[in-house]
Amino acid sequence: MNRAQIRGMLAKADAGQYAIPMFNYTDLWDLAGILDAAEELRAPVMFASIPRTVEAHGVAALGAMGKAHMAENPALIHHLDHSNTVEMCLRAIDCGYPSVMIDASKESLERNIELVREVVAYAHPREVFVEAEIGRIKGRDYEGTYLGDDFLVKVPEAVELVEKTGVDSLAIGIGTAHGFYEGKPEINFERLREVNEAIGIPLVLHGGTGIPEEDVYRAIRGGINKVNVGTQLRYTYMKTAKEQIELLGPSVHTVEIMREARRAIAKEVKKWIQICRADGKL
Ligand code: 13P
Repeated sequence: MNRAQIRGMLAKADAGQYAIPMFNYTDLWDLAGILDAAEELRAPVMFASIPRTVEAHGVAALGAMGKAHMAENPALIHHLDHSNTVEMCLRAIDCGYPSVMIDASKESLERNIELVREVVAYAHPREVFVEAEIGRIKGRDYEGTYLGDDFLVKVPEAVELVEKTGVDSLAIGIGTAHGFYEGKPEINFERLREVNEAIGIPLVLHGGTGIPEEDVYRAIRGGINKVNVGTQLRYTYMKTAKEQIELLGPSVHTVEIMREARRAIAKEVKKWIQICRADGKL
């Protein structure tokens, strides 16, 4: 898929009041579970690597793998999630990622704009889609830690960033956090409404793990077009692998363990595709 097609897919989701789910993978096995679920439910899905995963495997290998999967199923999009550096975005684009995120949300607005502009200037002539972030996603993980109170996106800043960069989509801080929540997340739906009224590009909800289903759907109705999920899949992966080793003993082949992990991840991914109401939306 290219930038125009991704924009079209998100516009269709917006009109149909569903969201494109995005899932973080760490290797071939959990990715296989994600793709199984996408295929079975005939859903458009983004599969994404965070910088830690990119550094572990190498961007060229992941880019090539992503291209192979996208060639088999045209409803799949390989995405670089939460890159803090322009360099990694540019490398990913060169290696065939059709979509990248430059996350400069912890910088000043001016610096955020500057970095997003750099990525957009490289990406758009190559038909690559760009996501930026403004406000803060809370939590202790995902290439940045933010536990403070100043997380809410400010509407005029979001407008300025979009106008000055021409970015394609925007992740916004409205109270969600990466990782498991302690208690119920407090999403500021009023701020979501204000941002959605002020800017015309797709909005992204990060920190999907642990958000109650009704809140996800309320956010989608309020203007969210893409929902990101990571922690729940990694937890499912490791928990299942541990259980399988305990069950089958030390001589078990990795493939036996991973087959079960893949199944468990696919089950979790199917649940999220349905929460986003993206099933059958090919
Ligand atoms: P969780 O790990 O909380 O599901 O968040 C994922 C995410 O937002 C990736 O960008």
